[in-house]
Amino acid sequence: MLVDAGLAFPTASMIGVDIVLPKINYLVANKDRIRGMIVTHGHEDHIGGIVPMLREINIPIIYAPGLAYALIQSKLKEANVLHQKMVWTKARDRVQIGQHFSVQYIRNNHSIADSYCLIIDTPAGRIVHSGDFKFDHSPVENQYFDIRSLAAAGESGVDLLISDSTNAERAGYTPSEKAVIPKLKEMIFNSRKKLFITTFASQVSRVKIVLQLALQANKKVTIFGRSMVNLANISKDLGFISIPDNFIIKQEEVNKIPPEDLVILTTGSQGEQFAALSRIARNEHKYVKIQAGDQVLISASPIPGNEKSVNHLIDSLFARGADVIYGLGQTIHVSGHASQEEQKMLLNLCRPVNFMPCHGEYRMLLKHGETGMKCGVNPDNIFVLDNGDILEMQDGKCSINERVDSGIVLVDNDNVGRLDEDIILERKMILSDGFILVVVNINAYGQYSAEPKLNTKGILLPLGFDERSFKKELISLTHEALESMIDKEKPSSIENLDKFSLKLQSIISSKIYNFLDNRTRRYPLLEVVVLSNHGTVKPVVAGLN
Ligand SMILES: [Zn+2]
Repeated sequence: MLVDAGLAFPTASMIGVDIVLPKINYLVANKDRIRGMIVTHGHEDHIGGIVPMLREINIPIIYAPGLAYALIQSKLKEANVLHQKMVWTKARDRVQIGQHFSVQYIRNNHSIADSYCLIIDTPAGRIVHSGDFKFDHSPVENQYFDIRSLAAAGESGVDLLISDSTNAERAGYTPSEKAVIPKLKEMIFNSRKKLFITTFASQVSRVKIVLQLALQANKKVTIFGRSMVNLANISKDLGFISIPDNFIIKQEEVNKIPPEDLVILTTGSQGEQFAALSRIARNEHKYVKIQAGDQVLISASPIPGNEKSVNHLIDSLFARGADVIYGLGQTIHVSGHASQEEQKMLLNLCRPVNFMPCHGEYRMLLKHGETGMKCGVNPDNIFVLDNGDILEMQDGKCSINERVDSGIVLVDNDNVGRLDEDIILERKMILSDGFILVVVNINAYGQYSAEPKLNTKGILLPLGFDERSFKKELISLTHEALESMIDKEKPSSIENLDKFSLKLQSIISSKIYNFLDNRTRRYPLLEVVVLSNHGTVKPVVAGLN
């Protein structure tokens, strides 16, 4: 049984990567054993990997709650995946997966509607999986945490709790989503110029709050960013957002609305280069420009790794004359994940025998493990796993056994699996230090049959060199390389010619690298191609071998 299948977005150092997917070799090798998937909620890091996964394995049935169901359906349609069997689940539904798994959906709170914990009953014991959660006692959608069902499960015994660790380092409680209303209300009611509000496209509750406040304030709203438009439409169809039919105006009509009446909801809260807000900040947006006095409210916090691009976005918006409202202490964003006191509450509701923190970076998992200890879980029964570790449960007893192949797959323009770490490293080298190509021709006697050729891009020239003298220097290094080999080994047969060429290649590479190291401390991508009478030796990419 699978629980969720997400994707991640690349960090700035993953050059040219569009999305990051989990490596699923283990699932491919065991594809005949897969009976179905349970989806907890509709965030991209829980459903974005499903369509790519279906290209490699068959999932006989996918159970998903309302909003997640609708989002997955729209992804399947877009990818032209027909006939995938899916079932729409509701609160307290119990579903059977294969012979051994019986799963109950228990409503929780999160930053998206229709989010669930799972009670998973198996012959080996009972597992509670928290899903992504927080305790919000006054949720925007009036979907209340089904604490009673969870407590009942705890009462009859939980063998293993698997729980969300995102905010394990944060003391106290995560505020209710409603905590953002006063500040948003003040801004929407009092704006005198255009008001831009950016948040995560998937933050349906936040989008709902903005739409309702704008409606009350008699303002017009437009939405920039395909993912946000899509999610707002689906949420409206499902009844999570109730607004009059023509309330959201088309992008191309924004200039017909007086600026003081206009609220623009937009994607790009993470400073993503091609998102609407970044294009607006660069003055490249088709329909809208920042004018002095416009306000931009960033109703999101940067995901770790995105701080630089978010800061750059904020700077660019200020530079265009906007007033940017961002950061902590503004109550314009609250997290969708439980802080320590809420994690303790879940632990105490379940009182599990075994505890496995999940969903977080290693230090967060450890911290969550400590919280588990404080709540009385036996330290020997707390399992902090690395990706790929197997936690085995038998008769309610858990142990970490073996590992399976796991990791990430970087996707560039939908060519799944084509990018590996070496390609990213090569891109980084080209991006930071440039590129040098050297082509030499040798004959069967190990002599150059033509003058070596050289091409460079983006190279920092050493002091005292211009481009011509620099190239001349590198070419003389290729001659030195050849001279160092003459007499020692002369190619007399074709086999020797191959060996000779390979050695020449590596000597040229190291000579050029030494020179660059001494003179510039820069390490461009260097490619040396040796052409010989009977063929080309595979180029050596220096620095990577
Ligand atoms: Zn989530």
